[in-house]
Amino acid sequence: MVERENLAKLSTLALRNRRHGLTQLLPPLGEVLRGSLMERYLTCGHPDCKCARGERHGPVWYLSVTLDQSHRMGRTIPSDQVELVRRWIENYHLVKERLEKISDINRELLRREKDKDKNRNKPRK
Ligand SMILES: [Zn+2]
Repeated sequence: MVERENLAKLSTLALRNRRHGLTQLLPPLGEVLRGSLMERYLTCGHPDCKCARGERHGPVWYLSVTLDQSHRMGRTIPSDQVELVRRWIENYHLVKERLEKISDINRELLRREKDKDKNRNKPRK
C-alpha cells in the first residue's frame, strides 16, 4: 500500500493545480492493458533434448489476467509483442495511480466544501 500524502496541508489552489497537472500526465487511454507478463522456460518432454539436461526452451512469454476471484486467464505473447505489452501494462498502472491521486484530491476538496457549508449554516447558540 502506497502511503498517502497529507493533502490537508495544501491550499485549495495547490490541490486544483496538482489535479490539473495529473490530468495532463495521463498516458494515452487507449494504450492500456491489465495483467502481468510472465517469462517461462519449458521442457518439451523428449528425453534426448537439451532441455532434459536442464537447458530449457524459452523464454516463452505469457500474459496472465485475473478476471475475478476464481477465474484467471493466460495466453502466450509472441516475442515481437512483448515490448508493446510491457508498455501497455505500465500505462495501465500509471493511469490507475494517477486516477487514485486525483480521487484523493477530489475527496479532500469535497471535505473542504462540506466544512465551509457546515460553518456557514451552523446555528448560533
Ligand atoms: Zn526440449
